[in-house]
Amino acid sequence: MCGIVAYKGNKDCHPILLDGLKRLEYRGYDSAGIACLFDSKISITKRAGKVKELQEAINTKKISKDFSTIGISHTRWATHGEPNHKNAHPHIDQSKKITLVHNGIIENYNSIKKFLLSKKIQFKSDTDTEVLVQLIGYFYNQGKLSFEESVRAALQRVDGAYGIVVLNIDFPEMMIAARKGSPLVLGLKQGEFFIASDISPIIKHTKKIIYLNEGEMIVINKEKYEIKSVNKNLVLPKKIETIDIKIDDLEKGNFDYFMHKEIHEQSDTILNTFRGRALKDDILLSGLSDYWKDIKNADRIYITACGTSWHAGLIGKKLIEKFARVPVHVEYASEFRYNTSLINKKTIVIGISQSGETADTLAAINKAKDVGALTIGICNVAGSSISRITDCGVFTRCGHEIGVASTKAFTGQISVLYLFALKLAYSKRTISKLSLVNHIKDEYDLVKRIKSVLMMEDTIKKIAVKYKEASGFLYLGRGLNFPIALEGALKLKEISYIHAEGYPAAEMKHGPIALIDKNMPTVFIVPKDRTYHKILSNIEEIKSRKGKVIVITNHKSKTLESLSDDLIVLPKTNSYLFLILATIVLQLFAFFIAVAKGCDVDQPRNLAKSVTVE
Ligand code: GLU
Repeated sequence: MCGIVAYKGNKDCHPILLDGLKRLEYRGYDSAGIACLFDSKISITKRAGKVKELQEAINTKKISKDFSTIGISHTRWATHGEPNHKNAHPHIDQSKKITLVHNGIIENYNSIKKFLLSKKIQFKSDTDTEVLVQLIGYFYNQGKLSFEESVRAALQRVDGAYGIVVLNIDFPEMMIAARKGSPLVLGLKQGEFFIASDISPIIKHTKKIIYLNEGEMIVINKEKYEIKSVNKNLVLPKKIETIDIKIDDLEKGNFDYFMHKEIHEQSDTILNTFRGRALKDDILLSGLSDYWKDIKNADRIYITACGTSWHAGLIGKKLIEKFARVPVHVEYASEFRYNTSLINKKTIVIGISQSGETADTLAAINKAKDVGALTIGICNVAGSSISRITDCGVFTRCGHEIGVASTKAFTGQISVLYLFALKLAYSKRTISKLSLVNHIKDEYDLVKRIKSVLMMEDTIKKIAVKYKEASGFLYLGRGLNFPIALEGALKLKEISYIHAEGYPAAEMKHGPIALIDKNMPTVFIVPKDRTYHKILSNIEEIKSRKGKVIVITNHKSKTLESLSDDLIVLPKTNSYLFLILATIVLQLFAFFIAVAKGCDVDQPRNLAKSVTVE
């Protein structure tokens, strides 16, 4: 959440920062702002709303003439204080010497604010962030501490999470950044430095990257940089990594929306997830190899995640329990942290997160590590915090996901969990070699089936548009498809703002059916499996209450045709993979409804991707 971009080099920082903010806008779009050092003062421009507003303001101010080679910028997802102009970052201290951008939450901001108010420091915003810049300013202006020492002293007094970048007008060649809980990366090029919340604003400039770890700070001075510990003035040795991402991966290409592009990428991304892992008669998950003996002997598995990743976790539970017969508990990461979890050294804890930076999931994994459980990360972003703090893990390899509503990352997570469940099952000999080989064959067949589902998008669009005025939706599925019903409902809520609920199909009788009328359609996910006939009865129950019914199935029948108002028939696959095809239909369905309603699909209101605050 929130995007930070900072630049120090030999070029004008404005175009670099604005371009970077646009690339990070998926992380928050409540307000945007830039501060640069210019003509011995700090020049700040900020606007409530999106980066576009900031860009217009900068063009109007003709700031481009204010050539400045050092600047910081921010796109905000408000946690404390309304999303308005005065609360927009960058913030500045009372002496107007120090300016800062911040991602995260300063949890003890009230007590620090009280202290600073007693020292006659006046606050201009309602944010938690301002206390940090004022505290740095307070230490610095007492004249006893250097700029760097003042930043360090202030950070040692704050609780909570931060990714910050700070400038000081007295040191126009210096830039200081630090992280605890919120990600930051440093990009290096001859004479130029780029700092950002993730690599997307950096890769068009350089592929040389340093990922900042927890409790580390970057001190840039003139042409030099050092990575130090926040707690001690100690220089840390750091490896420069070369990243292999093309800038095209971060563009919309021929699509109007990132979400639409990412839905269409799924035949490739799922193939990437399987490739080199689903071998002819074996499954290779090299990221887990060193720990496989412990994983195989685990007596219990916990899966912890948030949002869409939590839905993937529910599917993981069903797959692992079905194939490998190991009990699996799935908990929201934010609950796992505070629940009395019965984890111990024989428990495996799997954390799932697209970004690998989800604050609640990180905290849950840290709790698991504290009791000695083996931790596995399933995430999409290499180098992310979860991928580094877990003992081992598997990347989903879906490429950068920019649409705020997760699509390809979700099917990537399911694919990884499917591989994991099969590998575990085969290791424990709860499935036979023949069964493994057949599953692997099905996995590769799935890729072709995805393409044919994507070719059905005009039909899905026609159906979706018909329902754009619906007051709410029910999504129903059984077994493996119950989490898919939850995910379908979440997609619709996130991007079209239509209320939707997912339920196990039979549960509908225990409450939700009261909502059914002609304005509240129901989406049924109906694979041809042992629940098929039971679901037909559930459809009858909705029909007899005049509810509209949309059916997604892989088995066309006369009964289904007569019972459904709209029927989407998918290609045949095994029932473990049917759910991926059904997911893609539900993603497209939500997408086309949202577009028909004129919603901002890639940047839905109140949301942001990569939830780095708890
Ligand atoms: N807590 C800070 C604020 O509300 C930073 C939020 C963010 O990470 O965007 O301004």
